[in-house]
Amino acid sequence: MTVLIAGAGIAGLSLGLSLHQLGIPFRIHEAVRELSPLGVGINIQPHAVRELFDLGLEAGLREIGIPIEGVAYFSAQGGAIWQEPRGRRAGYSWPQFAVHRGRLQMMLLEALRERAGTEVVRTGEMVADWRGEGGEVIARLVDRKTGAALGESRGSVLVAADGINSAIRARLFPDEGPARWRGVMMWRGVSAAPRFLGGRTMAMAGHRGQKFVCYPIADTADGRALVNWIADLALDGSLPEVQDWNRAAAAAEILPAFENWRFDWLDVPALVRAAEGVWKFPMVDRDPLARWTHGAVTLMGDAAHPMYPIGSNGASQAIIDARVLAREMGRWGAAPIALRAYEDERRPVTNAIVLMNRRDGPDRVLDVVAARAPAGFADISEVMRADELQAIADRYKAVAGFDVETLNARAPIIGPIGDATTGRAGK
Ligand SMILES: Cc1cc2nc3c(=O)[nH]c(=O)nc-3n(C[C@H](O)[C@H](O)[C@H](O)COP(=O)(O)OP(=O)(O)OC[C@H]3O[C@@H](n4cnc5c(N)ncnc54)[C@H](O)[C@@H]3O)c2cc1C
Repeated sequence: MTVLIAGAGIAGLSLGLSLHQLGIPFRIHEAVRELSPLGVGINIQPHAVRELFDLGLEAGLREIGIPIEGVAYFSAQGGAIWQEPRGRRAGYSWPQFAVHRGRLQMMLLEALRERAGTEVVRTGEMVADWRGEGGEVIARLVDRKTGAALGESRGSVLVAADGINSAIRARLFPDEGPARWRGVMMWRGVSAAPRFLGGRTMAMAGHRGQKFVCYPIADTADGRALVNWIADLALDGSLPEVQDWNRAAAAAEILPAFENWRFDWLDVPALVRAAEGVWKFPMVDRDPLARWTHGAVTLMGDAAHPMYPIGSNGASQAIIDARVLAREMGRWGAAPIALRAYEDERRPVTNAIVLMNRRDGPDRVLDVVAARAPAGFADISEVMRADELQAIADRYKAVAGFDVETLNARAPIIGPIGDATTGRAGK
């Protein structure tokens, strides 16, 4: 009853670790030949941190990430709009972590190989398509670069964890076409810089058409921080042809637009200039689907519900998907019924987040303030009431499944590794 997984991103690796915890055999086929720590920073929310802790990864996560203790919103002029505590400071039983995406992926990969063996993740094997035969799923593997056939892989079910441009989703939904572009490009980088706002804060400034987001992902030996930043700019035109997470860009492309963003808590142009590399990626998502599971095949992570990176939920939701899917396979076996049970729980939640992110999720406060006070304000109370601000923040957490009381009170999805009543395998 082997589970075939296409993709060794955050979703696929979390699923592998969770299946190993439950003693369910699996095999991951990853298209790239060699996995390396790509990407810049991401946030893992407490509901997903809980799952990584249950997977026995607390020490690893603490080593590669830092706990985020607050978020703060500012206008394009740098005026303070709203701030709130995060992670344990907000009362969660688990922290929120900011971490380099690539280092998280490598940590998950190493833990999986150490626990389950090196052969469970097979790189350089892209899942091109599949067929059903005698109650089995047979995936056809190819070399992504050359298209050369690499044979087949047999299992009981196939899980598409192959990201926003999922080949499996494209085959299930041949009319869907490319991802939907919001008309905003995101430039991303990591810079060594002085700590800001206490050194544990995620900050957002501006509004939908021009936004700057930054947060620390590591402390440096000289008392500064590695700061992850994302600069959003609205652009005219159609969806850029190249949607590659590793597409290089130049700081000069955004510096003119942000040249005046020198606040008393952050010098944006200086931060951008200090980046060793800059990358750009269009802000894209896909329409929510009415169905993920087709017989013995289902979707997860970005293949199922790619969302705008607003509200820091892309990776977190992928991790929750993995835990729920593994739990259902533990209950029903690696069979279509488990895939459907997983979908019934996860699809409504993640579809709602995709739609909320289209309305800017918690960052909506920025747009409301920018519309009411485009030239800035002396005091936010002149522009927006505190209860309006609070309501936007609370609603997003409730939809995304991480309001404090619900999460703290909720039973674990699977439970901690090594726990005789829940997780089986441990190390
Ligand atoms: C290289 C890279 C860099 C990224 N950088 C950032 C970032 O800086 N900030 C951010 O917010 N998000 C980033 N993301 C996206 C982020 O990782 C996801 O939104 C989130 O973590 C959900 O992960 P996922 O596992 O569903 O998808 P992904 O992380 O996209 O992983 C999908 C995996 O599937 C593999 N794959 C694709 N097609 C196939 C196939 N047909 N067969 C087998 N394998 C396949 C890919 O190589 C990849 O390893 C990045 C993704 C990638 C792949």
